[in-house]
This record gives sequence, structure tokens and C-alpha cells, in this order.
Amino acid sequence: MEESKKTQLLKLLRGSGTFVSGQELCEQFGVSRTAVWKMINQLKEEGYEIEAVPNKGYCLKSAPDLVSPEEITSRLTTVWAGRTVYHFEETGSTNIDAKRLAEEGAPHGTLVVADTQTMGRGRRGRGWESDDAGKAVYMTLLLKPQFSPEYASRVTLLMAMAVTSALEEVCGGQSVQIKWPNDVVLNGRKVCGILTEMSAEPGYIHHVVIGTGINVNQSVFPKEIEESAASILRETGQEQPRAQIIARVMFFFEQYYECFVRTHDLSVLREQYEAHLAGIDRQVRVLDPKGEYTGISRGITDSGELIVEKEDGTRCEVYAGEVSVRGLYGYTV
Ligand code: ATP
Repeated sequence: MEESKKTQLLKLLRGSGTFVSGQELCEQFGVSRTAVWKMINQLKEEGYEIEAVPNKGYCLKSAPDLVSPEEITSRLTTVWAGRTVYHFEETGSTNIDAKRLAEEGAPHGTLVVADTQTMGRGRRGRGWESDDAGKAVYMTLLLKPQFSPEYASRVTLLMAMAVTSALEEVCGGQSVQIKWPNDVVLNGRKVCGILTEMSAEPGYIHHVVIGTGINVNQSVFPKEIEESAASILRETGQEQPRAQIIARVMFFFEQYYECFVRTHDLSVLREQYEAHLAGIDRQVRVLDPKGEYTGISRGITDSGELIVEKEDGTRCEVYAGEVSVRGLYGYTV
């Protein structure tokens, strides 16, 4: 998709890190000085702080924490992931929007983002708290894969890895781990939840949507999750631009996905996944509706199941479907 002039302008200003002359901008976009000035003013109205100095040009001093298509795409370094962005200030659920867009023909890699959701969901009908408008990332990535439906649930693990890699970049030194299969935990508390849904018929995937909620700049949480939830701000003391987190997650996801589609399993990525797996080689409790049991977590199989070694030495492969895993004493350990 061709980038809009506004996206290109933001990219140029951000990339240069210093002044860009008005003349250069005119030449770059093939427009008049007045047109450039108008574009700059539009950005200023949206909250961008741009310094204008005669004979030097324009310099981007700061950007508002927006998740607009331009703010996201001007930070993207991907080939296809997140290249088409739909933004809603408020929506029911970005997964539902992405499914509708998929049916209307939206391409592979389309990203739906919202400032807030009114019906955010977790697995098995649980809720995902989204009442802090503009503080967290609520997004859904649409995939239209060529592979067979049996492999689709594995993309949840790829997204967990992508979020982990992106958070490690901004949470310097803090512990970022994956709680199999669909959560990311920061210093032992949940910072991200992922909900993957698929529309398919036997042997053929129509589309897969991966909904991802990341707690970024919240300073307080609703009472029910106050103890168990983490945000980047709360753990690091620093706010982060949501668009940058999104752009980095897209970058890592695209890399992991390209790796995954070569084999349709996690054989190449398994080691990296396990290096971040919360509770590995420790006791875990498997909350299986058919019966709860404990064992030692031994990592994952190439297909993404959790390997749990029981006391008698037998190994079970746990399928994500109906099961939750907990540490022996708490959420992860
Ligand atoms: P499982 O271990 O089975 O995945 P889960 O408790 O992690 O169980 P999910 O479906 O992944 O379940 O996520 C929903 C749960 O996450 C909610 O029941 C709530 O406890 C918690 N939660 C909801 N919103 C947030 C949020 N913004 N940040 C952190 N945790 C949240």
C-alpha cells in the first residue's frame, strides 16, 4: 500500500532527528512551500511539536501518543505486517472488527487498533479490562494464511514471542516472560493477553485474527486485577509511545511468522520460546476440566504443546484449548 504524504512527512522528520529544510520537503513531495506549511500545521494541530526556524526548516521535537495509521506506519519497518491500519477511538472488540474487515476483503497483515474497547475478551469468554482509554494497546492483526487450519493456533505463540521481544527493548533489565500459551508477564504479573480466533472450513483457512492487549501507560488498574496486572509504566516508571510498541511487535511478529511458515511448527523458534517460558523446569498446576494435576514444566513441543512431566516420570503434552496452567503457589511460580 502506498504511504500517505503525512506518513512520509512524519517518517522524514523522525528519521532525520534534526531540521529538514522546507525546500527539501517541497522536492520530496512535489508540492509548493504553502502545501508543506499546511501539512506541518495539520500535524501541529494533532499535537505534534514541530519547531520551524527560518533558513533551517522544520524539526520534530515531540509526538503525541497517538495510534493513528500515520503514527504507526511512519514507525513501521515491516514488509506486510501492519501495512494497512484501521484505527477506532472506541470499538467493541478489535477482533470483531478485523473479522468483518477480513470478510470485506482486507488483506493479509491488516491491523486494527483502538484507543479503548467496550467488549474486550480473553479466552473462554473472560473479559479483558480496557477502560483506560488511550493508555494501552488494543490491536488485532489479520492473517490470511495458506496453511492448513490445524497449524493456526500456533500463531498465538508467535505473537507472545513478538510482544516479549518488543517489551524487552523498552523494559531494560526487567523480567519479561511468556506464560504458556497466551500471556506475557512482566515481573511475574500479566502485561499482555492474546486471543486468536479463526474462520475456516476443513482444509482451508478463511482468516485468522490475533487480538493482543498490552498494558502500556496505565498507572492504576481496576480492583479485580490490581494485584495480578502489570503495565510498562508501573514496572519501569516510564511512559512509552504506544505506536512504537505496536511497530516493534509487528516487526518481530513478521520475522517469527516468516520463520514459522517454512515448517509450520516451532522447531526453529522453540529454543527462543523456552528461554522466555515462565515456570520452565519448575512445578506447575494444570487446570484441566477433566482433572487437575501437577508436574514439572519441561518446555514445549515443536507443535507448541506444553510438556509436563508427572511425578512418575511420564510426560504429558498439554493442548491449549480448555486448559490453564498456574505456578504451584501463584500465577507463574
Ligand atoms: P489462562 O491462564 O487460562 O490463560 P487467564 O486468567 O490468563 O487464564 P485469559 O483469558 O488469558 O485468562 O485473560 C483473561 C483474564 O485476564 C481475566 O480473567 C483477568 O483476570 C485478566 N485480565 C483482564 N484484563 C486484564 C488486563 N488489562 N491486564 C492484565 N490482566 C487482565
